[in-house]
Amino acid sequence: MKKPILVLTVFILFLISLTGAAFCEELVVYSARKEHLIRPLFEAYTKETGVKINYLTDKAAVLMQRIKAEGQTTPADLLITVDAGNLWHAAQEGILQPVSSKILAENIPSHLRDPGNQWFGLSVRVRTIVYNPQKVTPNELSTYENLAEPNWKGRLLLRTSKKVYNQSLVAMLMTEHGEAKTEEILRGWVKNLAAPPFSSDTKVLEAIAAGQGDVGIVNTYYVGRLLKKKPNLPLRIFWPNQNANGVHVNVSGGGVVAHSQHKEAAIKLLEWFSSEQAQNLYADVNLEYPVNPRVSPDPKVAAWGKFKQNPINLDNAGKFQARAIQLMDRAGYR
Ligand code: FE
Repeated sequence: MKKPILVLTVFILFLISLTGAAFCEELVVYSARKEHLIRPLFEAYTKETGVKINYLTDKAAVLMQRIKAEGQTTPADLLITVDAGNLWHAAQEGILQPVSSKILAENIPSHLRDPGNQWFGLSVRVRTIVYNPQKVTPNELSTYENLAEPNWKGRLLLRTSKKVYNQSLVAMLMTEHGEAKTEEILRGWVKNLAAPPFSSDTKVLEAIAAGQGDVGIVNTYYVGRLLKKKPNLPLRIFWPNQNANGVHVNVSGGGVVAHSQHKEAAIKLLEWFSSEQAQNLYADVNLEYPVNPRVSPDPKVAAWGKFKQNPINLDNAGKFQARAIQLMDRAGYR
């Protein structure tokens, strides 16, 4: 009689430990990604695992400052934000911690995550060339660098250099070309501007569609959003640098907060974000690309066509950010 009772007891204890693991955790996520983009994801995770997720959304700089100020008492387990430049800063500030995860390494290509494993890309954002087909034929287009040539004079539209997206783009150009050549490209861009830089990608697109300029550089999801509202606008996406290093990509992503009280559970959530079942949920609402190469983008996004993406590690967007800002200033790119 003794043995079956022992086996039963062990089994019951095992069951208790399982339910305990499923229900004891509550996670706190600080997210610079907007609420409507993350809420469906969190709800799906809670439904699947029973882990409740509380979240706070704000601008990246505000959340990072808050985590710093809260120090060891921070309730935050995970920080989610956009742009590798921001994620790199979070790692530099010491508010994230390195995470070792086979699943994350398998699901996320290495150029889209921190070599020090403190941040991980979770969706891909593509900053590419957009043109007005009434003014430009695609065979006139080739590279970001080519937009600095005199034939684009009075035809180029850009967003302000204050936006981290452009700081990251320029930082990645510096990684490829070095400082002197990048400065030359920036000076060419500035010379070719048809109007002073705009405050948003959407304004760049509207100006291209209105004929104020012929060509610009924006993130593709803004094109998708605008064309959803106004499908007849004369706007086309072009994939530059296909015979060179490829299209400039960036990520939205996250990392485990240095003083998280639930490190293992936070890693599990990050891993789930990168999984095949969550990737579409994460990327599609914002018309972004999944970071996991085994997952196909939303059909609307896939319709823009396939392209080669720049494989240089995105930590350079952070490493060269300060110098990129200086360079843009020196080149007169406002
Ligand atoms: Fe954006």
